[in-house]
Amino acid sequence: MNTQSEQRHVLVTGGAGFIGSHLVEHLVARGDRVVILDNFSTGRRENLTGIASDRYEVIDAPVGEGIQGCEPGTFDEIYHLAAAVGVRLVIEQPIQTIETNVHETSAMLRFAARTRTPILIASTSEVYGKSSRIPFSEDDDVVFGPTIYSRWSYACSKAIDEYLALAYHREQGLPAVIARFFNTVGPRQVGEYGMVLPRFVRAALRGDSLQVYGDGQQVRSFCDVRDVVPALTALMASPLCAGRVFNLGSGRTISILELAELVVRTLESVSPIEHVPYETAFGPDFEDLRLRQPDLTRIREAVGFSPVTELPQTIRDLAQWIRRDGAVMERSA
Ligand code: NAD
Repeated sequence: MNTQSEQRHVLVTGGAGFIGSHLVEHLVARGDRVVILDNFSTGRRENLTGIASDRYEVIDAPVGEGIQGCEPGTFDEIYHLAAAVGVRLVIEQPIQTIETNVHETSAMLRFAARTRTPILIASTSEVYGKSSRIPFSEDDDVVFGPTIYSRWSYACSKAIDEYLALAYHREQGLPAVIARFFNTVGPRQVGEYGMVLPRFVRAALRGDSLQVYGDGQQVRSFCDVRDVVPALTALMASPLCAGRVFNLGSGRTISILELAELVVRTLESVSPIEHVPYETAFGPDFEDLRLRQPDLTRIREAVGFSPVTELPQTIRDLAQWIRRDGAVMERSA
């Protein structure tokens, strides 16, 4: 816990979302006062129950609008997590994706730059695009698909966010650090925007089939949100991290078919596994990547990042949360 004199005042955009709410919980536990700026497009009030309500306040607005009511210099730190997220959302609403991710980040950086308030920008492993160099290392080239496929708009919009944050750092001395999240998983993640693990866990709990897209041999890495969140505050705390990009995820990989099997086994479910063609799930010309794995050398050296939570534990905790939160999940699906 911080003493009164070192109590930080922190702004978290997207603080009612999956990762954001875990971050708010972590900040409150260390003694910070938190302002959450969220328009509740994919975030949920329920994510904040359990966090002492006298330790945070909520501004219910889009980032660019909400920030106009905040005095520059009010905050000691800013975590910018608000974004249009999820494969399904990105494909179905590309305008909202591009505009949210570019305009809102631009507004946030301009605000932070006025008083050089340290800011962390949430980016994504999608920024690597179709790169085939494994593992993905921060300074690798990025390779995007053609602009006729809206699926790449998420990656491109987040890449613009990175360029902008690095430009503010170089030109105006803004202490901005970029975290490139790989798949982050855990309680409070919902499946309706295309996130694979909550989709699988929910299906396994209901006895429905687990839908694996394609042959299921696409390989990913999954990191528990409770390992990810302390790394965000550690990146913020180290002045040497400003102006740099960091992969943030797990180095352990698993194929999506193996993940489905692990969920069924861990939850002792009777659900079958069903293969669904990509075209059926996402329409024609959807391009998925076969392999995504982060090189974690940089973040390990910078802040000693070393995730500890095993995937079966995450699956059990997510299942427990879905069971408890079931009524809400049914409503929002
Ligand atoms: P989420 O959808 O749960 O959180 C996003 C939050 O931002 C939500 O609370 C939503 O209501 C809010 N939001 C969206 N648009 C907004 C706007 N214009 N103004 C204010 N609030 C807005 O998703 P998440 O998984 O917690 O993602 C958080 C961040 O991490 C995002 O920037 C995302 O791109 C990044 N990320 C997440 C993952 C992952 O595996 N979860 C992977 C890569 C990157």
